[in-house]
Amino acid sequence: MPKTLESNGKCAFCNNLFSASEIEKHLGSCEIRKTSWETVPTEPLSKKEAKKIGTIFGLRVWASYDHSYWLFLEADAEAFLEDLDDFLRAIWLECCGHLSAFTIGENRFEGGGDMFSGGSEGQSMHIRLGKVLSPGLTAHYEYDFGSTTDLDLEVIWEREGKRNKEKISILARNESQGFKCVTCSKPAAVICSECSCEYEKEALYCDRCIKKHKCGEDMSLPVVNSPRMGVCGYAG
Ligand SMILES: [Zn+2]
Ligand SMILES: [Zn+2]
Ligand SMILES: [Zn+2]
Ligand SMILES: [Zn+2]
Repeated sequence: MPKTLESNGKCAFCNNLFSASEIEKHLGSCEIRKTSWETVPTEPLSKKEAKKIGTIFGLRVWASYDHSYWLFLEADAEAFLEDLDDFLRAIWLECCGHLSAFTIGENRFEGGGDMFSGGSEGQSMHIRLGKVLSPGLTAHYEYDFGSTTDLDLEVIWEREGKRNKEKISILARNESQGFKCVTCSKPAAVICSECSCEYEKEALYCDRCIKKHKCGEDMSLPVVNSPRMGVCGYAG
């Protein structure tokens, strides 16, 4: 478990801002989430209704090397690991279709790119979350085996509930961090991908100051709310 998630984030239900340490507790008690949260009715269910009930996992996801990037998600146990891969790519990672992998215990599940045309060691991600996840379990995720973005995730709850059409939904996410230009302290718009390998936070510039930066404007990438900011061609 990540002992110290940092930065604030918003609850997707009530839109209120919480610190990283408060948000999980809040999700359990958010009044708006409770009303939108479709719990299992107690009366005997018709067959049709029963089909809509399933296991849902609560997931906490964070960037392994920068705990200010985090997500709280819920995922249908019937969803596949590849759905979770797609979700993480869409919200945080996808730049040019790199390979990715989940490591869960001894098992490695690989996806993306042309993985299965080559000699891969890993298993396919075409496996249901219910087969590989359980409460308390932690897993590691890598996107791009060259300039890797590392994530960790933990299954923080399991509940029975009405299935959402979207197999994976977002409960809360860190707010963007309000980075400032290292030269003039105005809000940063870009990050120099050349300099960001060394010290990410010293490679941030506003639109004007990047024009005078030694590496040139061509090396710059937009500032985005993602642990892949400034890496490869990631533009959000
Ligand atoms: Zn809330
Ligand atoms: Zn890339
Ligand atoms: Zn500036
Ligand atoms: Zn630079």
